[in-house]
Amino acid sequence: MSEFAGRRVTVAGLGVSGGPAARALHRLGAEVTVVDGADHDRARAQAAELAPLGVTVRLGDSDTLPEGTELVVTTPGWKPAAPLFAAAEAAGVPVWGDVELAWRLRGPSPSGRPPADWLAVTGTNGKTTAVKMLAAMLEAAGLRTAAVGNIGVPLVDVVTGHGPYADLDVLAVELSSYQLHWASSVRAHSAAVLNLAPDHLDWHGSMDAYAADKGRIYEGNRVACVYNAADPVTEELVRKADVEEGCRAVGFTLGAPAPGQLGVVDGLLVDRAFVPDPQRTAQELADVADVQPPAPHNVANALAAAALARAYGAPPAAVRAGLRAFRPEPHRIERVAEVGGVTYVDDSKATNTHATEASLAAYDGIVWIAGGLAKGATFDDLVAGAAQRLRGAVLLGRDRALIADALARHAPDVPVVDVGRTDSGAMAAAVAEAARLAREGDTVLLAPACASMDMFTNYNVRGEVFAAAVHELAAGRD
Ligand code: ADP
Repeated sequence: MSEFAGRRVTVAGLGVSGGPAARALHRLGAEVTVVDGADHDRARAQAAELAPLGVTVRLGDSDTLPEGTELVVTTPGWKPAAPLFAAAEAAGVPVWGDVELAWRLRGPSPSGRPPADWLAVTGTNGKTTAVKMLAAMLEAAGLRTAAVGNIGVPLVDVVTGHGPYADLDVLAVELSSYQLHWASSVRAHSAAVLNLAPDHLDWHGSMDAYAADKGRIYEGNRVACVYNAADPVTEELVRKADVEEGCRAVGFTLGAPAPGQLGVVDGLLVDRAFVPDPQRTAQELADVADVQPPAPHNVANALAAAALARAYGAPPAAVRAGLRAFRPEPHRIERVAEVGGVTYVDDSKATNTHATEASLAAYDGIVWIAGGLAKGATFDDLVAGAAQRLRGAVLLGRDRALIADALARHAPDVPVVDVGRTDSGAMAAAVAEAARLAREGDTVLLAPACASMDMFTNYNVRGEVFAAAVHELAAGRD
């Protein structure tokens, strides 16, 4: 009998992970109720799929705790201040995130091997990229692995061995700050915090709370805590963490590595941590040119991934082979087309100022398309740092005035076009305005520094709509 048999569990939110969590708990014999504040067609369709299993779904009321609840499992989108959690706390009911649930559901594989180890990655930006690089390196080392977590397949399905996910050796796990907030007992083999910059502060309440949640990833690490030597807060989080005896702090840097670090020397990625004598020797892992694209922030992602792969025992050749096999995900500094001598680049995934700073730093002569939901961010530093490279800016989305104000303060000579409309033609209008501002040799860069949900389903759709508008523009010029 599972420890969940007969227990009354409330799942907070349908979302992407709510359905799989409800199903997994139901399979284990729990009496499951899903609550969600929404009551629209999509939610009703999801509810209709769960109802035949015997899962109760309550739509339109997400504030009150269902009678008799013994455990709440929450999906990542819910803010910690949600009334349901206050009700749970008042009733002495524990709250777990989907990752905590997955951690506790790990069991031996069908062939009786112990549960797969977790190599975990968090950070404000680069998580998906680093996790996919890591999985490629582990695969090249001959290990059975998968890139999971905040990506695609729900973690609960992976750890319970559904479908192709049975019998893995090790998981490359992407964890968001939301997931870490509600994951108190997860203990990774090794973990990395790639970088830390203000993001999601409206969810976490403060930068300190955000950093503390990220820092949980290091708790209980056994082999290595990987930090960014250029981002002292990440090293500070390692110092604060309670880890297993013998676990090492391993830094990564875009400069030459000190003993105990991975870094770059003469165009090579170099390991000076996982070598027999770090004081005297270093090991070549790969060429910077093996990293795709070889932009500095992405080389940092590759070094962090390499550190985790090496912590798990992957040989140097697997790092190079993994980097060569890795393919970047769409909407991350993706070149869409060249039209009339102007290059159009889709970085719709730049949903915060830190990511946008990295992509604005990668070009000169930029017509910048930005705006959307600011999530509590400010734009002064971003605009001040990029002002010299801006040819113009085209703003759209709900919080565009915040960016317009920063431009007026720090880049008063840069022409700004305000696209006030929010209908389905708004992005095409923005692209047309950008094309008007751009000169030959310039780059029109969609790097919104904001979330997309005010106008689009998600950043993927935003990027696709942008690309479609660019292709239409190109067709019009033919
Ligand atoms: P995440 O999964 O953390 O959102 P992604 O790998 O999907 O990260 O990249 C998100 C965005 O951040 C993209 O716009 C990408 O170009 C940018 N980015 C990726 N890595 C870094 C980094 N190390 N520093 C700053 N920006 C980055």
